[in-house]
Amino acid sequence: MNFHIVTLPGDGIGPDVTHEAVRVLQDIAEKFGHTFTFEAHRIGGNAIDATGSALPQETLDACLKADAVLLGAVGGPKWDDPRAKTRPEDGLLAIRKGLGLYANLRPVKPHPALAFASPLREEKIHGVDFIVVRELTGGLYFGEPKERRKANGHVSAVDTLEYHDYEIRRIVDLAFKLARPRKKKLASVDKANVLASSRLWREIATEMAADYPDVKLDHVLVDTAAMRLVTAPASFDVIVTENTFGDILTDEAAVLVGSMGLLPSASLGQGTIGLYEPIHGSAPDIAGKGIANPLGSILSAAMLLRHSLHLETEAVTIERAVERALTDGCRTADIARQGERVLNTTQMTDEVIKRVQ
Ligand code: NAD
Repeated sequence: MNFHIVTLPGDGIGPDVTHEAVRVLQDIAEKFGHTFTFEAHRIGGNAIDATGSALPQETLDACLKADAVLLGAVGGPKWDDPRAKTRPEDGLLAIRKGLGLYANLRPVKPHPALAFASPLREEKIHGVDFIVVRELTGGLYFGEPKERRKANGHVSAVDTLEYHDYEIRRIVDLAFKLARPRKKKLASVDKANVLASSRLWREIATEMAADYPDVKLDHVLVDTAAMRLVTAPASFDVIVTENTFGDILTDEAAVLVGSMGLLPSASLGQGTIGLYEPIHGSAPDIAGKGIANPLGSILSAAMLLRHSLHLETEAVTIERAVERALTDGCRTADIARQGERVLNTTQMTDEVIKRVQ
């Protein structure tokens, strides 16, 4: 089959890890008889330098014509001036909006050989395998009014948390569908004891459960969910939640695996185009050294194959190759223990490619 993939390498270690994920995709194409074409475009800080915009129109147009988009990371100290009119992260918000991406998927499955790297005790990490589905385009981050006010000699600030029924329905529906081929357990996370938007969320999730009788739906308050993620993370299967709660819980969940370099993510929407990126940032402290862990980006490429190109066997092939490389002791600096042989970014990818069968 023929597919066209736009890559947005971005800044810092973004280009390094994206390059490696493309190598793995090329290898998959060769081994499975597909043709993947790649087209690189600018986003983030380098796009600001070249065009003044963090997401040039040309980049967005190219993404809209692609089958899928693979992103590296954006940002870095060069563009950190708080007075700057445009920031690299503006490119991320603009591309999510431009592609209509309302769902962010973050699988968390620590590898047993890396359990030592988790801040939790090894027995707590055993069996952890869940996915967080975060609503990405609604809620507190986008609601209006969002402003400062002055009255009676005081300043106040307001943010608005609003959700429409259709926004809740489409993300909860996606989460139910994701739970079906897994352990069929869905935790809908809200704050229904305090927030009106959460009560609407809970009402709709409960109604929708009737369409998915095979999936067990639980409502979990966000504070309880935050505790359960560290006390009993293996009890989760699929978690679905609104934007702000998801922002915080996904980062809490990410640290369970021990390194930022290991985790992938997917952002999906109404259309078929998805955006795939490792969860880490541009890691300025290691940029240009060739030592970044490429596995988060490589696993993002696997998600791209699964969710946008519908090539499940190929996706699983990459995931198994990564698992085997880790089982066999392949380590980049961020996941190596003292005395272990340390691979650089390219060598780690070579080890994964060797195991793509
Ligand atoms: P970061 O994820 O870039 O780095 C945090 C720590 O994890 C650093 O010590 C880094 O070296 C390490 N790390 C990250 N990825 C790694 C990898 N693949 N291999 C090995 N080690 C890795 O987060 P930060 O330092 O808070 O942010 C740096 C810049 O990235 C900032 O400008 C921030 O705004 C931006 N950022 C971008 C995104 C994105 O593009 N989606 C996400 C988060 C942060």
